[in-house]
Amino acid sequence: MASTDSHVIVIGAGITGLLTCQGLKKAGIPYSCFERDASMNYRSNEWTMAIHWARPLLEDILPKEVHDKFPTIACNPIAGIHSGLYPIIHGETGELITGVPYTEGLRVPRSRMRALCAEGIDVQYGKTLVDIAFNESGKGVVATFSDGTLVSGSMIVGADGPRSRVRETAMGDAELAATTSFPIFHTNMTVCYNDAEKAKYVREKYPTSYLALSDRSFHAFQSISSMPDGPDHPESWIFHMAMAWMGESDNTMCYSERLALIKARADGLGEPARSAFMWMPEDTEVHKADISYWISQPWENREGRLTLVGDAAHPMPPYRGQGLNHCVNDVSKLLKGLIAVHSGEANLSETIAEYESEMIPRGKEEVTCSVENGRMLHDWNKVQESPVFRRGFKPMDGHDTRQGQEIAQTS
Ligand SMILES: Cc1cc2nc3c(=O)[nH]c(=O)nc-3n(C[C@H](O)[C@H](O)[C@H](O)COP(=O)(O)OP(=O)(O)OC[C@H]3O[C@@H](n4cnc5c(N)ncnc54)[C@H](O)[C@@H]3O)c2cc1C
Repeated sequence: MASTDSHVIVIGAGITGLLTCQGLKKAGIPYSCFERDASMNYRSNEWTMAIHWARPLLEDILPKEVHDKFPTIACNPIAGIHSGLYPIIHGETGELITGVPYTEGLRVPRSRMRALCAEGIDVQYGKTLVDIAFNESGKGVVATFSDGTLVSGSMIVGADGPRSRVRETAMGDAELAATTSFPIFHTNMTVCYNDAEKAKYVREKYPTSYLALSDRSFHAFQSISSMPDGPDHPESWIFHMAMAWMGESDNTMCYSERLALIKARADGLGEPARSAFMWMPEDTEVHKADISYWISQPWENREGRLTLVGDAAHPMPPYRGQGLNHCVNDVSKLLKGLIAVHSGEANLSETIAEYESEMIPRGKEEVTCSVENGRMLHDWNKVQESPVFRRGFKPMDGHDTRQGQEIAQTS
């Protein structure tokens, strides 16, 4: 018999929270979604993300009409969902070091994926979660927001990102829930050359993206991000660029000072990376990303009334391209459990315990691996021993099942 008292409170309307809501809505499970920002993409800076091994899971999570639009938000609309070899090149010579294989991969700009995942979802913006209380009856939860609103539900799902407030309650201590800063100076830029010839030149060899590793121990990354006026108007193409090196960040620097640091490094690169970075307009906003991590560990889930998904559960450095893939995997697994609870076939406490018993070790292993990978990738003497060279994009062993089937070979 279907449960009449399911009401899932989802905190955070990043991609993970929105995917969760899409799946709940598709299954007919009541939900409410709360986001602290005033509107979608309100203060977020942009980046692009590769979805690879978890991509097939999106089909089950999303309604067909939303899922069908995925090829339209691809960074490279000509390639859409495709297989291939992700190029890692030697920064100084421009020669290919390796091609990391992937099957059915899709690179998307974060803002467009978020907008697509928000289609048909009722998000309550400007709502910052500040507290969570649990009814003494053992059933139900009450979320308190900074404007004084109280909302009750049957459970709360923390999809509130790396500095999750829900994780603080789960761990019972802000210190235990705190992230560790990954010591890297990581910059992200959104660039339009406003020049068709330049735009075509930087994409000629690697039409979607590449990662250049410098023998001076930094990485330079470029991806097409979107084509606002279409493939025939290269002057309008937008690129995602990133450059990063190990070391503490100087937060006092302005955009132009950061750009000067980047161009000083780019000057020694080979083509196409040298031109791609040297041609960045002088007014480019050079955003510094805050890269931090938290090694997933068990928390108090209050008889299944609280759990975590996505970066809230396993924030990690992004250099093996795993974060979003795990977010999708979390949502897929959590939804299966919640559908069984809603239909009366399973109980909430056991379902959430089972979900966490798979997800927490998977998160722990990937966060640990991504931290190691991040360090090695930015140390020229170690790059070829790094996990992305050894394992490619494949999920870690033992954490690669989908509906009981092996999916490790999909990347
Ligand atoms: C530069 C970069 C490149 C990346 N590349 C890849 C890649 O190639 N492949 C890949 O798989 N992954 C990649 N990732 C990782 C991926 O972007 C993240 O794993 C994913 O976007 C996390 O989504 P999320 O919804 O869990 O968290 P978030 O996007 O952080 O969303 C959390 C939301 O919760 C809201 N929130 C926070 N606190 C509260 C509160 N108290 N109350 C209400 N709302 C709150 C926030 O405002 C936010 O909107 C990359 C990350 C970076 C930084």
